Amino acid sequence: MNDILIQNTTAFFEKSFGSVPQKVVLSPGRINIIGEHIDYNDGYVLPAAIDKIICFAFEKNDSKKSKIIAIDLNEEFEIDLTQEVKLSKVVWTNYIRGVIKQLQDNGFSFEGFNCVFSSNIPVGSGLSSSAALECGMIYGIKELFNLDIQKLDISLLGQKAEHWVGINCGIMDQFSSVHGLENKVIKLDCNTLEYEYHNADFKDYSLILMDSNVKHSLFTSEYNTRRIECEEGLAIIKAEFPEIKSFRDCSEEQVLNLKNKMSEKVFSRVHFVVKEINRVVKACEALDQGNIEVLGQLLFETHYGLSQEYEVSCEELDMLVNTAKDDDAIIGSRLMGGGFGGCTINLIKKGHENDIKSKFSNLYLDTFGIELKFYDVKISNGTTLL
Ligand code: ADP
Ligand code: MG
Repeated sequence: MNDILIQNTTAFFEKSFGSVPQKVVLSPGRINIIGEHIDYNDGYVLPAAIDKIICFAFEKNDSKKSKIIAIDLNEEFEIDLTQEVKLSKVVWTNYIRGVIKQLQDNGFSFEGFNCVFSSNIPVGSGLSSSAALECGMIYGIKELFNLDIQKLDISLLGQKAEHWVGINCGIMDQFSSVHGLENKVIKLDCNTLEYEYHNADFKDYSLILMDSNVKHSLFTSEYNTRRIECEEGLAIIKAEFPEIKSFRDCSEEQVLNLKNKMSEKVFSRVHFVVKEINRVVKACEALDQGNIEVLGQLLFETHYGLSQEYEVSCEELDMLVNTAKDDDAIIGSRLMGGGFGGCTINLIKKGHENDIKSKFSNLYLDTFGIELKFYDVKISNGTTLL
């Protein structure tokens, strides 16, 4: 599938600019196995890059202007690199403007280039097409102009570009797009940015995403509320246990002891966060031991927490996960990403994939009148040159 994308992108480049691209960059989307709503709570997450990518073709153009074409949108824009970078009303261009601004503000010098790009990462489904866009652009400019930028800095510059666009994201998405390795998940400490790889061998199970095709508008306001509730909870914990710096240092028992010092809501949020961080540790152990059934069980527990304690699910996602729980061919399922829509991630016994897909799509269509989409994902390398 990626071969066709690469061929189309380079052919489009040749047609547009009359030359062969000097650099071709592949930049992946990501999944997160477990550790949800944890990156901004400074705990552990377990993401991986996937085989859905944005392909970019680049050349220098010996000028001070850059021309960028988004094939999928049939749109293009030009930017004068000698002028101050400003936000535009055309949202997709802001991710690229943001990248150019961050590179310039951080002292990297480069000149005009031509670029075309095209993608097979579903947009807005929680697979982080935005991080793939930012990190792929940075990677391409770095390669074209021989800039000395390390992987971690590509991730951090990408994150800053996204903040400039107006989305206050954590570091997980950009980090995984850049640091991904084939068949490895990344246990990332979002506090220190230390990380380690674990084998992602799911044995007899396939990793399949189900896209609910809904995005409820509660997302942004509730996301901000959760951040505030967690800050409030952490302040209460720190006041009682000064040695605790972040949720990672806190045991479930300590949280339970403080239950009467917190509002019911704050307690539920904090209780979820501390347990979820523990589940990431347990998930790594289960993967190391090849115990995929235990991993699956942890996914169900995470969903229960996200739905009942953190309250970021919705009826469509709950229905998908509850149906999965009652199906012997699915050993784990949970909502993935911020919630209120987007995808569920599922571990499905090999050989049962097609049956499951037709069962779930019929049921989902009957219940909500919405088409369910499926993405088979393979864990793949991070941003790279072709
Ligand atoms: P996601 O979960 O996919 O990251 P976001 O809303 O964070 O969703 O980012 C999606 C935005 O990224 C799109 O609205 C668009 O502006 C930009 N984008 C992603 N993929 C493409 C693409 N192939 N072409 C143009 N813009 C894209
Ligand atoms: Mg995004």
